[in-house]
Parts: sequence; C-alpha cells; structure tokens
Amino acid sequence: MAAAIEARSGVKGWCPGVLRPMQSGDGLIVRVRPRIGTFSLDEVRALADLAGRLGNGHVDLTRRANLQIRGLEEEALSELQAELGRLGLVDSDAESEAVRNVMVAPLAGIGSGVRRVAMAVEALLASDRRLLDLPTKFGLSIDDGGPVSIAGERADICLRAVGNDFVVGLDSREGTRWLGACAPNAAVNVVSTAMHAFLDCAPHRRLRDLPEVDQVRVQATVSPLLSELPSFDGTGGRVLGLVQGAVGIAAPFGRLEAFHLNQLADLAAMAGADEMRLSPWRTVYVTVRDAAAGRALLDGAEAMGLIVRDDDPVLRIEACPGAPDCTSSSVDARGDARRMASLAVAKSFTGSIHVSGCAKGCARSAPSDLVLVGNVGRYQVIRHATTRGPAERLVDADDLASVFLETPHG
Ligand code: SF4
Repeated sequence: MAAAIEARSGVKGWCPGVLRPMQSGDGLIVRVRPRIGTFSLDEVRALADLAGRLGNGHVDLTRRANLQIRGLEEEALSELQAELGRLGLVDSDAESEAVRNVMVAPLAGIGSGVRRVAMAVEALLASDRRLLDLPTKFGLSIDDGGPVSIAGERADICLRAVGNDFVVGLDSREGTRWLGACAPNAAVNVVSTAMHAFLDCAPHRRLRDLPEVDQVRVQATVSPLLSELPSFDGTGGRVLGLVQGAVGIAAPFGRLEAFHLNQLADLAAMAGADEMRLSPWRTVYVTVRDAAAGRALLDGAEAMGLIVRDDDPVLRIEACPGAPDCTSSSVDARGDARRMASLAVAKSFTGSIHVSGCAKGCARSAPSDLVLVGNVGRYQVIRHATTRGPAERLVDADDLASVFLETPHG
C-alpha cells in the first residue's frame, strides 16, 4: 500500500489518515475513521494491539469522532496498513479516505434510519469521484435527535432526525442554518446536491468560508428539495455515565493508552456490548445489558483513570498533546492542563480553559474563557478568545496559578 507521508503540522486544513499519515514529534500519526462512527470490539482490540505493537502505545480520540494511533516508525507503516486493510478500515485511496468525514449520533440504534442514511452517505462519498474535490475538512453530521445529540457540533452539512424525517442544515458564518426537512430516502440526494453546489462555487475550505452570495446560492439549490422546517429542540451534547441503555466514558484530553483501550473493550464485552461508538467529545459510548452492567463498566473505567462524570473538572479543559509529541510546541500542554484542572477547582474558576502548545490551536477552534498558548517555554495568557486572540502577558509554566487572579469566577 502506498504511503504519502506528510509533515505539515503547521498547516491548517489537512488531517492525517491511514493512507496519508502525518509526521509529528513522536513519529507518524495515523488517523483511523470508523465506519458510521462505530468500531466492533474486535476492531477495538486489534487497534489497541497495533497501537501498542507498532506505535508508541498512545491513542487519541479526536474531535471529529476518529481514533489516532501515534508514534509509528516509517518501517511499521506497511504492516499497519495491511492489518487495517484486513479489518476493512482502509479506503480505496487517500483521497476517498480524506473526504469520509461523517459523524453519527453515538446512540443511533442499529438498523435505525440514521445509520442507514449514514451508510448511504458514506457510499456516496466513495462512489462519486467529483466529491473527491471536497476540502479534506469538509464534514457531515447525522443526528438521531436523542439524548446524546451531535446536532450542536459544527459540520458543513447537518442532518437531524425529527419525527419520520430529517431536517437539513448548512453551515454559515453564524452557525448552522436549518433550511427544511426531507424524507430519509431523499436525504442522500439532498446531501449530494449541497456538496455539488458547494463545489460549483470558487474553491473554499468550508461552507462557512463562502461569501454570502455563494452561501445563498447553495441554499437556494438545496431548498427546493425540502419541505417546511418543523420545530425541533436543537439542544444536546455530551452526557457521561449511564444514559438510555448505554454508558458514556471520556478520555482526559482525548488520550488513551493502548492497554487501556484493550481493557475498555474487555469491560464493554462483560457489560454485554459488541461495539464501541465514537463521538466528537473525545468520549466513547457503549450499549450495556442493564444498569448494573453499566455501573460495573463505569467503575472499571474510572479505576483506569477515565472520566465518567459530567462534573469532572478536566472536562472543562481542552489541551493538545504539546511537547514532546508535537514539534511545534515548547511546552507540555497536557501536563500543564492537568495542573490547571486542579488549580481551577482550588481557585473556584468555572470558565472554559484551552491549553495549546502553539497558536495553531488544534484542540479547540472556538473561543474559551481562558487560553494559554505555548511560547518559547512559557505561556501567553489570552481571555475570552481563541488562540489567535490578543495576549495580555506571558507566564512561566510554574506560575500558572497567577492566571486565575484576574478573573476568579470565570
Ligand atoms: S496546537 Fe498543539 S498539536 Fe497543534 S501544532 Fe500546535 S503544539 Fe502541535
């Protein structure tokens, strides 16, 4: 299998894959995209084995509901690709892999309309060669409207089940514009029409980057395919612990170790599961036999250092790997983020925090209440902005407590 290795960690608008790994400070990063957001437990065990045997044992859950194996040597890549190919987790070519960015509601039932539509959308992306021209960050979300909804996550095209239909939203500068509804069997045509209309415009990275005149043009192409927009509840988001016959378990900053992933698969099997669903919150969901089995799984996950409660202070912090994993960083972003979690509790700081190894801000693109950006071994302090916001000062990594002095209550 051919491998085009890229070393563009400073470039926005590009993500690693199995067929196009990315060079990072700790070796190659390989991002594995689950099909319709789901890995079987056998696949999870195989991924854990590959991460431990061929990588450095670090596994990341990404914000786009994918899983990353880190720290590969170039010589190990062919074996990894062959093994993933045997599991059916490799696309026909790097371009097809890059455009398969489909997030699926993690609790969407097996055989449900949501999963059928997700499968059909993935098949469309694999078969329509013009869609290979889509930018690699162009993505879709397909939501079930249930208690763990991903409809609030930003995607270029959003589908959300409402009653027997799907409501359709397109991203814009202000967020998702919900346009109308369609029947499940029309959803793929609507998605295809929207993607082709986007490609008919001058090249841009995302739908939201289009000038308003082009956004209106894309919306006007899609809207005739839709019926009137029904009212629906657009709330949702991550839920940890027991939730509707499943459990949600988060990894601190999205980082798991290979042996943890293996243990989690064993615990999930004991709880009656045969698959693991990924979500955009660096959280996995596992359906369980009953509440007692779910609680046993949660106890086991918590004992492994994973997060099982929504009020865990680490959840309010986003942090990229930083040094030494990423060559763009001069600071240990995740180590310092753990200290920030303890300090935030001690200082009664209730706002959101983003600790970033550099200004690229891989861990979070939205603003946070407090942002620390690595800068030659120290941190720039930014408030209520992204990593690109104006810095008020520089602090040393061993003086992080001082950043809470200005806004003690967030
Ligand atoms: S934000 Fe973090 S992971 Fe991204 S390039 Fe900078 S240091 Fe590396």
